[in-house]
Amino acid sequence: MLSIQPDEITKILKAQIQNYEQQLSDSSTGTVLSVGDGIARIHGLKDAMNGELLDFGNGTVGMVFNLEQDSVGSVIFGTGRDIKEGQTVKTTGRVVQVPVGEALLGRVVDTLGNPLDGKGPIETSDFRFVESPAPGIIQRKSVHEPLQTGITAIDAMIPIGRGQRELIIGDRQTGKTSVAIDAILNQKGQNCVCVYVAIGQRASNVANVIKTLEDNGAMEYTIVVSASANDAPALQFLAPYAGCAMGEYFMYKGQHVLCVYDDLTKQAAAYREMSLLMRRPPGREAYPGDVFYLHSRLLERAAKLSDDMGAGSLTALPIVETQANDVTAFIPTNVISITDGQIFLETDLFNAGIRPAINSGISVSRVGGAAQTKAMKGIAGKMRLELAQFRELAAFAQFASDLDKATQAQLARGQRLTEVLKQPVNSPYSLGKMVIQIFAVTQGYADDIDVKKLDGFRKQFFSYLDTNQPDIEAGLTEGGKLTDELEAKLRQALKAFKESVYKG
Ligand code: ATP
Ligand code: MG
Repeated sequence: MLSIQPDEITKILKAQIQNYEQQLSDSSTGTVLSVGDGIARIHGLKDAMNGELLDFGNGTVGMVFNLEQDSVGSVIFGTGRDIKEGQTVKTTGRVVQVPVGEALLGRVVDTLGNPLDGKGPIETSDFRFVESPAPGIIQRKSVHEPLQTGITAIDAMIPIGRGQRELIIGDRQTGKTSVAIDAILNQKGQNCVCVYVAIGQRASNVANVIKTLEDNGAMEYTIVVSASANDAPALQFLAPYAGCAMGEYFMYKGQHVLCVYDDLTKQAAAYREMSLLMRRPPGREAYPGDVFYLHSRLLERAAKLSDDMGAGSLTALPIVETQANDVTAFIPTNVISITDGQIFLETDLFNAGIRPAINSGISVSRVGGAAQTKAMKGIAGKMRLELAQFRELAAFAQFASDLDKATQAQLARGQRLTEVLKQPVNSPYSLGKMVIQIFAVTQGYADDIDVKKLDGFRKQFFSYLDTNQPDIEAGLTEGGKLTDELEAKLRQALKAFKESVYKG
């Protein structure tokens, strides 16, 4: 017998009505509820993805940052001045991506890959997601080739390998940027693409860096990504990922890449600003809870790829600024724990004229030793030891009135080593020149030369070698090994130079 069941009928009708409504509502369009401080709250947009690009019309774009129960929080790439309450917003179906490829070399671009240098549009059809996963374990290989920075103190004592992540850390105005730029300059002719990402810096600073790169002919193999202090926090936050994506393109093609992120402190501050405005709960130092992941997912993308993957590499040199040398602050401890070592720059050393102001006692490179050239490895070990002994003695000798001969000799040696590690900006040395000067000092050839005159001695000896025996430097640089034959030649040259050429 057939009976009417009103319950069932209402259920079906209700379901139909509900579906009818769904067909009507457009889930890819929303309306702006509120806007300000570089963020917008949007109603609707039911199918928005996390990290999706949003189109506000008239050229303004944003990115989905918060997915909430009945609204979407979006950060705006730009001032957002022309966004009005109640206006419509559309999803684009695309996660943020940037143009990549050879066309970017020599260009200055913003976070989204738009040119900032007035050299016309960037002709490329390749794009990469700004955020993409880091290569896995199987796709990697351990770091084994050196990445020469041309800075003696670094290449000798804190060697960096291709694919390594080495943090440059120090207070403001201690030469952090200079170290990174010198490393870029030294990649000339090394078949290595460089990416310099400027985050939250003054525009004049960035202009100076670009000028230095241009003047030294480094722009042709370099991409500059700039999100300066007056850009929206969202652009500052994304800039390093964008730079990394541009670098990854070359890494996955089997090339070598060096990425400098200058600096991650300002990136974290921009991220904190966005998170607080979005009402995400603040944690230590008011940073949101995921600030560790902010840096780890960026730095994990640095890698040395396996041979199957083309053996490319991406070396990362993140920069972090400290306050009063405090490495125990939140961001410094985080980044120190993610990277494979740090180069520590100190104001005291900088002011004492020891530049680059590297504190070699607490700077380390955890994987670079495997990548150091034989020539450097052979002589640098002794130097590290002598310098460490010197530091200990020097602190102690301040109180002693008369010192025995051996102590005096050790102090003199240490002073000369410290002196020889001084190096002006934008003048990287070749491997050969680095090895020659360390060899000369550690073997005692400079013991009888006044510390103040050591720089002159070095310059004169190099020009003597360039005219008389260029094969020593060339042999060392190309061979990467201090053979017995080269050593004998070098000793001979040092002796001849000191006896007959050098006048003091
Ligand atoms: P900021 O905190 O402002 O970013 P920074 O730590 O990046 O500063 P730099 O801008 O690299 O420091 O350098 C500060 C100043 O020190 C510059 O004028 C630079 O020319 C000078 N300087 C850096 N390294 C050396 C060096 N090895 N020899 C002489 N001067 C140097
Ligand atoms: Mg700087």
